[in-house]
Amino acid sequence: MDEHFDAIVVGARVAGAATAMLLARAGQRVLVLDRARPGSDTLSTHAFMRGGVVQLSRWGLLDDVVAAGTPPVRRTVIRYGRDEEVVAIRPAPHTDALYAPRRTVLDPILVDAAARAGAEVRFESTVDRLLRDADGAVTGVEARDARGRRIAARAPITIGADGLRSRVAREVGALTYHQGTNASAMVVGYWAGLDVDGYQWLYGPGHSAGLIPTNDGLVCGWVGSPAARFLAEQRRRRDLGFHEVFHRVAPDWAEALRDARSVGHVRGFPGVPGFLRQPWGRGWALVGDAAHFKDPLTTHGMTDALRDAELLARAVLAAASGRCSHDRAMAGYQDTRDALSRPLHALADRVAAYDWDLATVRPLLLAMSAAMRPEVGHLLDLDADAVAS
Ligand SMILES: Cc1cc2nc3c(=O)[nH]c(=O)nc-3n(C[C@H](O)[C@H](O)[C@H](O)COP(=O)(O)OP(=O)(O)OC[C@H]3O[C@@H](n4cnc5c(N)ncnc54)[C@H](O)[C@@H]3O)c2cc1C
Repeated sequence: MDEHFDAIVVGARVAGAATAMLLARAGQRVLVLDRARPGSDTLSTHAFMRGGVVQLSRWGLLDDVVAAGTPPVRRTVIRYGRDEEVVAIRPAPHTDALYAPRRTVLDPILVDAAARAGAEVRFESTVDRLLRDADGAVTGVEARDARGRRIAARAPITIGADGLRSRVAREVGALTYHQGTNASAMVVGYWAGLDVDGYQWLYGPGHSAGLIPTNDGLVCGWVGSPAARFLAEQRRRRDLGFHEVFHRVAPDWAEALRDARSVGHVRGFPGVPGFLRQPWGRGWALVGDAAHFKDPLTTHGMTDALRDAELLARAVLAAASGRCSHDRAMAGYQDTRDALSRPLHALADRVAAYDWDLATVRPLLLAMSAAMRPEVGHLLDLDADAVAS
């Protein structure tokens, strides 16, 4: 027998768990399905920008992130070759620091909040296909649990928060109407015994790198290269070229990394150009990487996901309550997302071309930082009591 809900969310990480939490807090019956195991890790460099921290704080979850021992980040150091710029994190509403929680810390905090709000979260449950009515509108999902048992669930809306290679986006044929041309490949690892104060963003000709303090006294280190160069030169090396690239960008930090203790293996991401997809249609919506992707050198994907989770949840609730027509509410979600995202998309694509020199990358990075500001104002202006408290 089919199960019935107000909303089905495919994917239980930053985008899916946050959207489910907001819908459930507003009283909706929400089913969340994820094929992963609870608490599993995923590739990331973890850095939240201000908008993401604002969301965690507005939702009452920042204390949990802090209580998990996530170190506060109070400054950003940006290096252009030998030139260094130190930017203090200004105290502002909800944030006097930034944070970079491990995904094994952050994702369970969001999932627990969704479950506490009443969402039914089922891990190790893979969505195989979407269900549709006679007119083609999406009416739910068919999935399999860990024991291979079939799940059929129906809801007026099915939300794909199922990441970059979204099955929901593929099945509904969501149109990609903006596509970047460049992509950073990234190599990511963890080190213990490295003293790093704040986010370190490091730029050298043809490469980028960074150091990010995270949980358990670890520092997440990453290097970025043009995707084509990664595939041609770095991919076959044992450390995926991590140390050589780091040495080219910041020889002093490269030495410090060699003296520190590497924890686990480095992992590579081959690069995907940014995109914006149509994020809604009849009976479906997309959020997070499923809906839109920015080059990871922005360290902005999770911040986008938490922002868009609320934009989408508000649209779904406005449509469900009859305060607004479905199409108008969802078009509002899309328009706001696009207005807040497009400037950063364009800049990220230019930085990911890696055709800059140290003089020309500086204004691009300053513009990138400026492009993140409007979303913070937008989030602070949202009516705090509708879905967010
Ligand atoms: C190398 C790298 C570094 C990054 N660093 C940062 C950073 O420092 N800061 C930042 O803000 N962002 C960063 N990002 C981006 C960030 O990781 C993503 O934007 C974010 O994870 C998107 O979250 P999501 O919930 O949309 O998708 P995901 O985190 O991809 O979660 C999707 C979930 O959907 C589930 N799923 C998929 N298909 C199905 C199915 N058929 N059935 C059931 N479940 C399914 C998956 O199991 C998964 O758990 C980085 C990305 C990369 C690649």
